[in-house]
Amino acid sequence: MNDKLNKNSIIRLFNVSKRFGGTLALKNISLDIERGEFIFISGPSGAGKSTLLKILYRAEKVFEGQVLIDGMNLSRISSSKLPVLRRRFGIVFQDFKLIPTLTVYENVALVLEAAGKKTSFIKKKVMQVLRTTGMGKKAKALPLTLSGGEQQRVAVARAVVGEPSIILADEPTASLDSRAAQAILDFLMEYHKKGTTILIASHNLHLLENKIQGRTIEINDGKII
Ligand code: ADP
Repeated sequence: MNDKLNKNSIIRLFNVSKRFGGTLALKNISLDIERGEFIFISGPSGAGKSTLLKILYRAEKVFEGQVLIDGMNLSRISSSKLPVLRRRFGIVFQDFKLIPTLTVYENVALVLEAAGKKTSFIKKKVMQVLRTTGMGKKAKALPLTLSGGEQQRVAVARAVVGEPSIILADEPTASLDSRAAQAILDFLMEYHKKGTTILIASHNLHLLENKIQGRTIEINDGKII
């Protein structure tokens, strides 16, 4: 691997391919993303956008090639180090993935509990982040009593509460109306201004066009166009 490449890179992929049985979901992808970039990953459904995000936080292993996250080579990372890798990421999904039996507060607090933070810190931090997403008054609510837009605000709060260096959002606005979608994007933009690297995958970028300065990476049939 050539380490003379950009020192400011936070994500680097070298000739990455991913196979699911007979399907090549990613074909020889090379990519260099700098710290603090705002990246849109566009492309039709089935293009490989989700797979690309999943290999970054090692939810999927690559079939060929190398992935470096903040200098960590994912093909050499042991399973005991996976939590360290995953703490660098905040992840937002289309279907929110909140735990239905836990309150809004508990869903967000879980991240900091897993990272071994003190209860007093957790209380302060979770409430602060919930207030910034406009969900402070719903801390005791269960997720399924909330609207989709509200649930996604909680999911975004959960993604940012651990102060990750990278936020991955997989179709974060696809199940929301345009007003709720805009609120989520505005919130992600605030984090971008603070220096967080953000990757948003979407098959439908019209909401975002002209609103956010960022680099678009177009994927089709597992390849970057
Ligand atoms: P996108 O996010 O752009 O819609 P995906 O990354 O989900 O695309 O999928 C890319 C390709 O890989 C598709 O052909 C999809 O069917 C296939 N694929 C994704 N995940 C799996 C899986 N777990 N098992 C089998 N095939 C998969």
